[in-house]
Amino acid sequence: MKLLVVGSGGREHALCWALKRDRPDAELYCAPGNPGTAEFATNVASDSSDISAVSALCEQLNVDLIVVGPEAPLAAGLADALRAQGRRVFGPIASAARIEASKAFAKDVMNAAGIPTAASATFTDLSAALAYVDQHAEPLVVKASGLAAGKGAIVCATRAEAADALRSMMGARIFGDAGGTVVIEDFLEGEELSVLAVTNGREVRLLPAAQDHKRLLEGDRGPNTGGMGAYCPVSIATPALLARVERQVLLPTLAELERIGAPFRGVLYAGLMISPAGVPNVIEFNCRLGDPETQAVLPLVNRGLVDLFWAAADGAPLPELEISRAAAVTTVIAARGYPDAPEKGAVIELGGKAERRSGGDLDLVFHAGTRQDADGTLRANGGRVLAVTAVRDGFAEAQAASRALAESVQFEGSQFRRDIGWREAQRAHR
Ligand code: AMP
Repeated sequence: MKLLVVGSGGREHALCWALKRDRPDAELYCAPGNPGTAEFATNVASDSSDISAVSALCEQLNVDLIVVGPEAPLAAGLADALRAQGRRVFGPIASAARIEASKAFAKDVMNAAGIPTAASATFTDLSAALAYVDQHAEPLVVKASGLAAGKGAIVCATRAEAADALRSMMGARIFGDAGGTVVIEDFLEGEELSVLAVTNGREVRLLPAAQDHKRLLEGDRGPNTGGMGAYCPVSIATPALLARVERQVLLPTLAELERIGAPFRGVLYAGLMISPAGVPNVIEFNCRLGDPETQAVLPLVNRGLVDLFWAAADGAPLPELEISRAAAVTTVIAARGYPDAPEKGAVIELGGKAERRSGGDLDLVFHAGTRQDADGTLRANGGRVLAVTAVRDGFAEAQAASRALAESVQFEGSQFRRDIGWREAQRAHR
């Protein structure tokens, strides 16, 4: 069996690790991959945003299953091109990937299907948007409709802040074309939860629900980032809540996408706000696995990942996954200057393999933004540089071990949060 993972970050390193663990006999490729994926997979130089290059590579290697990590190639039509070639692809076609690539489209789908989500209005005209804000209660949320690397939503405490956000998105175009259309949304109170559903377009299999940490600094302060850490499972994600999310959010969204001719195969990721009364509302959909949620979630999948991705890609009935009852905490280690202007080049000493096991304990060091010099020296080469995951029987042990692991691999100028999972820790002490 030949498997190809498309992408080069921590999510893709975790995917390679998990696919190899599930199918040690598979021939695994990663395009373009990173120094970490090279440990389990053959890295093949290819620009994941170049659809014809990836298509040619799949032809040449004759791969059986392609797993696409990032959203941009999906939104640009990579899965369409590969399916047209007769390839089995885990990841949605472009018309379905719009659920992430256009927040305006996602709102239309949700409204048509009666999915619980914040009230909103969509604008392409700055003065109309400013007039709407002027009449709106505070706080409110201004979102660039297009892809903005997870940074396109601005929570605004006041109307004045919202007006500034609109001017910077629609006028100054700080997010480029992604801000040509904006969605203005009512503010939702509560606690966020990420539910990642593997789907063949009709049925879903849920991965363990996770919680992400978007802000740079401890205590959820500082600027928004791509994500500074994640953990799972989350104790507010009770079986009853997850059943409700499946019934009220995931299945009707998939049915609506199918109805409008955009069937979704891959991972439908629901970013939810759970109200204090326990009611889930959708904040956003993603069309792929989250980064860094993947690095926390996949180590808890004991068996069945390849069969599940394979069946979902084929639109076939979905097999069950075997999920561990352990807890996983992932800490992202970023470079100095992240997220605005990360410094590249710091030397990283890892001293050993990505995977360290001792009894039931598992430590994993995933590469997110690294490169290797010709002499083998490993260097920081991105904003988020490493993502370390500790798997332990209980949450508290996993949290402490993840922090210790991050401390053991830090490098010159690195920064990381020592409070990943703080809400769960607080709940345990209540
Ligand atoms: P998004 O890009 O839509 O996921 O938004 C990024 C972050 O902004 C979310 O993870 C939330 O923390 C926050 N956010 C987005 N929409 C809302 C909302 N309607 N109410 C409260 N917070 C929100």
